[in-house]
Amino acid sequence: MTSISLANTPCILIVHPQGLGQLTIHSEVLALWPGAKVLFTHEADELQQILVTYKPDTLICADTMSELPLAQVLNIVHHVLPKTDVIAWSNQAQTETIPIGVLGVVCAQKPGDLEKHLLQAQQRHHIRTQLRALLKQSIQAMFFEPLSGFLTRDGFIQVCQQVFEHLEPNKQLTVFVLRLPKQFSIQLERDPRVKRNTLDKLFQRIRQTFAHDTLCKWSDQLVAVLSDQLDWQQDQDSILASIMALHAQLNLPLMTGAFPIRPEISIGLARPGQDAQHPAELVTHGQWVGQLLERHNLRIESILHEETHALAKRRKKIELSLAHGIEHNELHLEFQMVENLQTQQVESLEALVRWNHPDLGRIMPDEFIGVAEDSGLMNALGTWVLNHTCMALRQLHHKGFALRCAVNCSPGQLNNPEFTRFLANTLRHHNIQPECIELEITESTAMQDIDATCRVLRELQELGCKIALDDFGTGFASINCLRELPVNILKIDKGLVVDCLETPQHHCIVKAIIDLAHALGMTSHAEGIETDEQRQTLASMGCQRAQGYWLNQPLHLALLMEQLEQRQTKH
Ligand code: C2E
Ligand code: MG
Ligand code: MG
Repeated sequence: MTSISLANTPCILIVHPQGLGQLTIHSEVLALWPGAKVLFTHEADELQQILVTYKPDTLICADTMSELPLAQVLNIVHHVLPKTDVIAWSNQAQTETIPIGVLGVVCAQKPGDLEKHLLQAQQRHHIRTQLRALLKQSIQAMFFEPLSGFLTRDGFIQVCQQVFEHLEPNKQLTVFVLRLPKQFSIQLERDPRVKRNTLDKLFQRIRQTFAHDTLCKWSDQLVAVLSDQLDWQQDQDSILASIMALHAQLNLPLMTGAFPIRPEISIGLARPGQDAQHPAELVTHGQWVGQLLERHNLRIESILHEETHALAKRRKKIELSLAHGIEHNELHLEFQMVENLQTQQVESLEALVRWNHPDLGRIMPDEFIGVAEDSGLMNALGTWVLNHTCMALRQLHHKGFALRCAVNCSPGQLNNPEFTRFLANTLRHHNIQPECIELEITESTAMQDIDATCRVLRELQELGCKIALDDFGTGFASINCLRELPVNILKIDKGLVVDCLETPQHHCIVKAIIDLAHALGMTSHAEGIETDEQRQTLASMGCQRAQGYWLNQPLHLALLMEQLEQRQTKH
């Protein structure tokens, strides 16, 4: 903790007629409190003026002055500076008559009294100074983020609220939300000093770009800016030009150590009053707008399109109603069959979650899984999916369909240290063997922290579950990581499946992936098979399992059972 400065010079006012008595008090004060600023008066008007101008900490007053009696001094102090400590200098041994508000009474007969009361006043002064410094420090900590020097969330919300309260109706404001890169290059990440330096430069760049605006470090990755740089009365082209200029300025190359980097700061925005009212909601809206642009690889023009803002509002609605949706069983599972390409038997299923939203209708997982992740609801959602998968498997087993079922896992679930234990308990509760469950993780989940992922996956395998690497071919999993990851099934992404009929090169790539899977002891599995031609091609390449619309669209449990029964009677 930084030490608190006590360098706040105390100011002492002696109210005493000029002469020897005044000098005696003065020398006692200086001996006890060296460095104190000492002032003198013996007139009522001057006393008032000094109190206003110098705000003395302690006042020493003789109660012997006929022209300015102690009672009048106290009255003035009470009205002008009520918290001042007063020490009354009296010749009377009787002190009961001394009015309230006096810290101590110094009797001329008792030489040590002034010292005692002055020390007390000195202590009070130190405490007050410390308190003031602490208050200043805590206000600083409450409202300013130390690394960037930008406002904290609380500070930003308060500033925005005040600005919105006093906003003239025609004034145009924007809340920009800037997303900083999650990770820098490996060289930068490895050296904390260089990384710190780069972050400082990023903050400096943001400060320069928004020199007259209010900046806030909203979270590790987000900076919010309350800005009046855009004039919303202008035509769209001019507004867009201003946004593009800001974006370009933010992303000019930065020198870090010996090499330049592109900052890769993305930008989103919200319009106060139009997109939301509360500062926190404006930041969330701006964040979604930025994320939509990034996720869908949209050009910056889309930042002004009403569809983008409508989607951001929809996302907010989804976020606000997701917890309720999970709790009130608005979710349901659909199942897709997985066929063994050699035996042509259905040997497994994949559970896919859907949500029937009361206002928005049917919502697909791609839209709400990310929201669940961001809003901390993924564990609740994952728990729901796992429980309902187990219940479905029980019913299927009961009907004689000895199938396994795959469940998709997102990073939030896998990072939960309790996941394996929770899974084991759930399976025991529903009386489902772990061998009946396949857990699907995507390449990007696996790559986030490969060591931690390997540890969890091994635990899950030890429990008896199978692990599938989903959407293989869409991420950046290197062949080396594939060798390290404890994976049983390699699910080749539907994009690759479609492409493999297009060109001989794609055909070769898919064939190589299948061979690689087998060489590493994994089961090859093709996703997104839509035609018989695709199925036959994949089968001829040696692929072991297939899934896709060719076999079935994802189905409710009841319909799935019907189709399974029909297949049984056919075979
Ligand atoms: P995924 O695990 O790769 O699931 C396959 C997706 O491809 C499903 O989309 C499925 O309906 C679709 N699909 C299946 N066959 C075909 C086909 O022949 N052609 C085409 N074009 N598509 C096909 P869906 O259900 O929209 O799920 C999308 C993604 O959402 C899933 O991708 C999975 O990553 C995630 N997801 C679904 N359910 C859950 C869940 O319960 N938990 C988690 N964490 N993620 C889930
Ligand atoms: Mg999947
Ligand atoms: Mg997939």
